[in-house]
Amino acid sequence: MRKPFIAGNWKMNNTVEESLKFAATLAVELKATGQIDVAIAPPFTALYSLGVAFTDTEFDLAAQNIFWEDSGAYTAEISGVFLKEVGCKYAIVGHSERRQYFGETDETVNKRAHAALKHDLIPILCVGETLEHREAGKTWNVIESQLEGGLKGIDLSSTTDFVIAYEPVWAIGTGKTASTAQAEEVHGLIRNYLNEASGKEIADRTRILYGGSVKPSNSRELLVQPNIDGALVGGAALDVVQFADIIRNAH
Ligand code: PEP
Repeated sequence: MRKPFIAGNWKMNNTVEESLKFAATLAVELKATGQIDVAIAPPFTALYSLGVAFTDTEFDLAAQNIFWEDSGAYTAEISGVFLKEVGCKYAIVGHSERRQYFGETDETVNKRAHAALKHDLIPILCVGETLEHREAGKTWNVIESQLEGGLKGIDLSSTTDFVIAYEPVWAIGTGKTASTAQAEEVHGLIRNYLNEASGKEIADRTRILYGGSVKPSNSRELLVQPNIDGALVGGAALDVVQFADIIRNAH
Protein backbone atom coordinates (compact mmCIF):
# COMPACT_ATOMS: atom_id res chain seq x y z
CA MET A 1 0.00 0.00 0.00
CA ARG A 2 2.83 2.42 0.89
CA LYS A 3 5.55 2.40 -1.74
CA PRO A 4 8.96 1.92 -0.10
CA PHE A 5 11.22 4.92 -0.30
CA ILE A 6 15.00 4.95 0.01
CA ALA A 7 16.62 8.38 0.18
CA GLY A 8 20.33 9.05 0.33
CA ASN A 9 21.54 12.14 2.16
CA TRP A 10 25.06 12.93 1.04
CA LYS A 11 25.43 15.84 3.48
CA MET A 12 28.59 17.84 2.65
CA ASN A 13 30.14 15.15 0.47
CA ASN A 14 30.70 14.63 -3.26
CA THR A 15 31.80 17.18 -5.80
CA VAL A 16 29.94 17.54 -9.09
CA GLU A 17 32.42 15.17 -10.70
CA GLU A 18 32.02 12.57 -7.93
CA SER A 19 28.25 12.91 -8.07
CA LEU A 20 28.18 12.22 -11.79
CA LYS A 21 30.43 9.20 -11.36
CA PHE A 22 28.07 7.89 -8.67
CA ALA A 23 25.03 8.41 -10.92
CA ALA A 24 26.67 6.56 -13.79
CA THR A 25 27.64 3.62 -11.58
CA LEU A 26 24.23 3.54 -9.92
CA ALA A 27 22.56 3.27 -13.32
CA VAL A 28 24.73 0.23 -14.07
CA GLU A 29 24.24 -1.33 -10.62
CA LEU A 30 20.52 -0.86 -10.68
CA LYS A 31 18.84 -0.92 -14.07
CA ALA A 32 15.42 -0.27 -12.55
CA THR A 33 14.27 0.63 -9.09
CA GLY A 34 11.15 -1.51 -9.38
CA GLN A 35 8.43 -0.72 -6.92
CA ILE A 36 10.66 1.55 -4.88
CA ASP A 37 11.07 5.31 -4.84
CA VAL A 38 14.71 6.35 -4.72
CA ALA A 39 16.12 9.83 -4.21
CA ILE A 40 19.50 11.40 -3.57
CA ALA A 41 20.09 14.64 -1.71
CA PRO A 42 23.49 15.88 -2.91
CA PRO A 43 25.17 19.15 -1.92
CA PHE A 44 23.43 22.12 -3.56
CA THR A 45 26.33 22.52 -6.01
CA ALA A 46 25.62 19.11 -7.53
CA LEU A 47 21.83 19.36 -7.74
CA TYR A 48 21.70 20.63 -11.29
CA SER A 49 24.20 18.16 -12.75
CA LEU A 50 22.74 15.22 -10.88
CA GLY A 51 19.27 16.26 -12.02
CA VAL A 52 20.48 16.17 -15.62
CA ALA A 53 22.11 12.79 -15.05
CA PHE A 54 18.86 11.47 -13.56
CA THR A 55 16.78 12.53 -16.58
CA ASP A 56 15.04 9.48 -18.00
CA THR A 57 15.94 7.41 -14.93
CA GLU A 58 13.74 6.44 -12.01
CA PHE A 59 15.96 8.28 -9.53
CA ASP A 60 14.72 11.50 -7.98
CA LEU A 61 16.43 14.54 -6.59
CA ALA A 62 16.09 15.83 -3.05
CA ALA A 63 17.36 19.00 -1.39
CA GLN A 64 19.06 18.85 1.99
CA ASN A 65 17.22 21.98 3.13
CA ILE A 66 14.98 24.79 1.92
CA PHE A 67 14.44 28.39 3.07
CA TRP A 68 11.00 29.89 3.62
CA GLU A 69 11.41 33.02 1.50
CA ASP A 70 11.51 32.79 -2.28
CA SER A 71 14.32 35.32 -2.84
CA GLY A 72 16.09 38.22 -1.20
CA ALA A 73 18.91 39.12 1.16
CA TYR A 74 19.32 35.75 2.88
CA THR A 75 22.96 34.86 2.35
CA ALA A 76 23.62 31.13 1.95
CA GLU A 77 19.99 30.11 2.01
CA ILE A 78 18.24 28.33 -0.85
CA SER A 79 14.65 28.79 -1.92
CA GLY A 80 12.03 26.47 -3.29
CA VAL A 81 12.05 28.41 -6.56
CA PHE A 82 15.64 27.37 -7.20
CA LEU A 83 15.15 23.82 -6.00
CA LYS A 84 12.15 23.36 -8.23
CA GLU A 85 14.03 24.84 -11.19
CA VAL A 86 16.76 22.21 -10.95
CA GLY A 87 14.24 19.40 -10.70
CA CYS A 88 13.99 18.58 -6.99
CA LYS A 89 11.08 16.46 -5.92
CA TYR A 90 11.76 16.35 -2.18
CA ALA A 91 13.23 18.65 0.48
CA ILE A 92 14.64 17.39 3.76
CA VAL A 93 13.68 19.63 6.68
CA GLY A 94 14.77 19.47 10.30
CA HIS A 95 17.71 17.11 9.95
CA SER A 96 19.29 16.72 13.38
CA GLU A 97 22.58 18.17 12.15
CA ARG A 98 20.69 21.34 11.20
CA ARG A 99 19.04 21.40 14.61
CA GLN A 100 22.31 20.64 16.43
CA TYR A 101 24.82 22.84 14.59
CA PHE A 102 22.75 25.53 12.89
CA GLY A 103 20.15 26.45 15.46
CA GLU A 104 17.12 25.05 13.69
CA THR A 105 14.05 24.94 15.88
CA ASP A 106 10.67 23.35 15.40
CA GLU A 107 9.44 26.77 14.36
CA THR A 108 12.00 27.23 11.57
CA VAL A 109 11.61 23.61 10.52
CA ASN A 110 7.89 24.20 10.23
CA LYS A 111 8.45 27.30 8.09
CA ARG A 112 10.71 25.27 5.82
CA ALA A 113 8.12 22.50 5.54
CA HIS A 114 5.47 25.07 4.56
CA ALA A 115 7.85 26.50 1.95
CA ALA A 116 8.43 23.05 0.47
CA LEU A 117 4.70 22.44 0.12
CA LYS A 118 4.19 25.87 -1.38
CA HIS A 119 6.63 24.93 -4.12
CA ASP A 120 5.17 21.50 -4.63
CA LEU A 121 8.16 19.79 -3.07
CA ILE A 122 7.56 16.83 -0.78
CA PRO A 123 8.96 17.54 2.67
CA ILE A 124 10.93 14.85 4.45
CA LEU A 125 10.48 15.98 8.05
CA CYS A 126 13.18 14.57 10.34
CA VAL A 127 12.50 13.91 13.99
CA GLY A 128 14.50 12.06 16.59
CA GLU A 129 15.67 11.97 20.17
CA THR A 130 19.16 12.30 21.60
CA LEU A 131 20.70 9.64 23.81
CA GLU A 132 20.01 11.82 26.88
CA HIS A 133 16.34 12.02 25.93
CA ARG A 134 16.15 8.25 25.44
CA GLU A 135 17.92 7.49 28.70
CA ALA A 136 15.63 9.88 30.55
CA GLY A 137 12.59 8.08 29.11
CA LYS A 138 11.62 11.15 27.10
CA THR A 139 11.84 9.70 23.59
CA TRP A 140 8.18 10.03 22.76
CA ASN A 141 7.75 13.45 24.42
CA VAL A 142 10.53 14.83 22.24
CA ILE A 143 9.25 13.28 19.04
CA GLU A 144 5.68 14.26 19.70
CA SER A 145 6.65 17.88 20.22
CA GLN A 146 8.86 17.84 17.09
CA LEU A 147 5.89 16.47 15.13
CA GLU A 148 3.52 19.00 16.62
CA GLY A 149 5.90 21.89 15.92
CA GLY A 150 7.04 20.67 12.51
CA LEU A 151 3.52 19.99 11.24
CA LYS A 152 1.89 23.12 12.67
CA GLY A 153 -0.62 24.58 10.24
CA ILE A 154 -0.06 21.83 7.70
CA ASP A 155 -3.18 20.10 6.47
CA LEU A 156 -1.89 16.66 5.54
CA SER A 157 -5.13 15.90 3.73
CA SER A 158 -4.41 18.63 1.19
CA THR A 159 -0.96 17.28 0.30
CA THR A 160 -0.58 14.27 -1.93
CA ASP A 161 2.48 13.11 -0.10
CA PHE A 162 4.42 13.93 3.04
CA VAL A 163 7.33 11.95 4.42
CA ILE A 164 8.48 11.68 8.02
CA ALA A 165 11.92 10.35 8.89
CA TYR A 166 12.56 8.99 12.37
CA GLU A 167 16.26 9.41 13.02
CA PRO A 168 17.44 8.80 16.57
CA VAL A 169 20.29 11.28 16.94
CA TRP A 170 22.43 8.75 18.80
CA ALA A 171 22.29 6.43 15.78
CA ILE A 172 23.29 8.94 13.09
CA GLY A 173 26.76 8.38 11.77
CA THR A 174 27.74 6.48 14.90
CA GLY A 175 27.48 2.94 13.60
CA LYS A 176 24.83 2.31 16.29
CA THR A 177 21.48 1.36 14.85
CA ALA A 178 18.29 1.33 16.82
CA SER A 179 17.18 -2.26 17.23
CA THR A 180 14.34 -3.17 14.92
CA ALA A 181 12.09 -3.30 17.98
CA GLN A 182 13.15 0.19 19.11
CA ALA A 183 12.66 1.60 15.62
CA GLU A 184 9.34 -0.13 14.99
CA GLU A 185 8.03 1.02 18.36
CA VAL A 186 8.64 4.69 17.56
CA HIS A 187 7.35 4.29 13.99
CA GLY A 188 4.17 2.77 15.40
CA LEU A 189 3.79 5.72 17.79
CA ILE A 190 4.27 8.17 14.93
CA ARG A 191 1.62 6.31 12.92
CA ASN A 192 -0.77 6.50 15.90
CA TYR A 193 -0.03 10.19 16.26
CA LEU A 194 -0.93 10.76 12.60
CA ASN A 195 -4.05 8.69 13.04
CA GLU A 196 -5.19 10.80 15.97
CA ALA A 197 -4.16 14.11 14.46
CA SER A 198 -5.24 13.60 10.86
CA GLY A 199 -7.25 10.39 10.57
CA LYS A 200 -6.67 6.85 9.42
CA GLU A 201 -6.42 7.51 5.70
CA ILE A 202 -3.53 9.93 6.16
CA ALA A 203 -1.85 7.76 8.78
CA ASP A 204 -2.08 4.82 6.38
CA ARG A 205 -0.63 6.64 3.42
CA THR A 206 2.17 8.65 5.07
CA ARG A 207 5.57 7.09 4.64
CA ILE A 208 7.76 6.96 7.72
CA LEU A 209 11.44 6.34 7.01
CA TYR A 210 14.03 5.13 9.48
CA GLY A 211 17.46 6.76 9.53
CA GLY A 212 20.55 6.04 11.62
CA SER A 213 23.47 3.95 10.41
CA VAL A 214 21.36 2.01 7.91
CA LYS A 215 23.53 -0.32 5.85
CA PRO A 216 22.99 -3.41 3.69
CA SER A 217 23.50 -5.73 6.66
CA ASN A 218 20.70 -4.24 8.78
CA SER A 219 18.36 -2.75 6.19
CA ARG A 220 16.38 -5.86 5.32
CA GLU A 221 15.35 -6.51 8.90
CA LEU A 222 14.40 -2.86 9.43
CA LEU A 223 12.52 -2.54 6.17
CA VAL A 224 10.24 -5.50 6.73
CA GLN A 225 8.79 -3.94 9.88
CA PRO A 226 5.15 -3.02 9.31
CA ASN A 227 5.58 0.69 10.08
CA ILE A 228 9.01 1.25 8.52
CA ASP A 229 8.40 2.35 4.94
CA GLY A 230 11.92 3.06 3.86
CA ALA A 231 15.20 4.57 4.94
CA LEU A 232 17.03 7.86 5.01
CA VAL A 233 20.62 6.80 4.50
CA GLY A 234 23.69 8.91 5.24
CA GLY A 235 27.09 7.22 5.26
CA ALA A 236 26.12 4.13 3.28
CA ALA A 237 24.59 6.31 0.55
CA LEU A 238 28.10 7.52 -0.32
CA ASP A 239 29.03 4.04 -1.45
CA VAL A 240 27.15 3.18 -4.60
CA VAL A 241 27.35 -0.58 -4.08
CA GLN A 242 26.02 -0.35 -0.52
CA PHE A 243 23.31 2.09 -1.55
CA ALA A 244 22.17 -0.21 -4.39
CA ASP A 245 22.13 -3.16 -1.97
CA ILE A 246 19.93 -1.23 0.46
CA ILE A 247 17.53 -0.49 -2.40
CA ARG A 248 17.49 -4.16 -3.38
CA ASN A 249 16.82 -5.11 0.23
CA ALA A 250 13.72 -2.93 0.21
CA HIS A 251 11.95 -5.21 -2.29
C1 PEP B 1 21.41 10.84 8.13
O1 PEP B 1 22.25 11.69 8.07
O2 PEP B 1 20.23 11.12 7.87
C2 PEP B 1 21.82 9.49 8.53
C3 PEP B 1 20.89 8.66 8.87
O3 PEP B 1 23.16 9.23 8.54
P1 PEP B 1 23.85 7.79 8.76
O4 PEP B 1 23.15 6.81 7.85
O5 PEP B 1 25.29 7.99 8.37
O6 PEP B 1 23.68 7.43 10.19
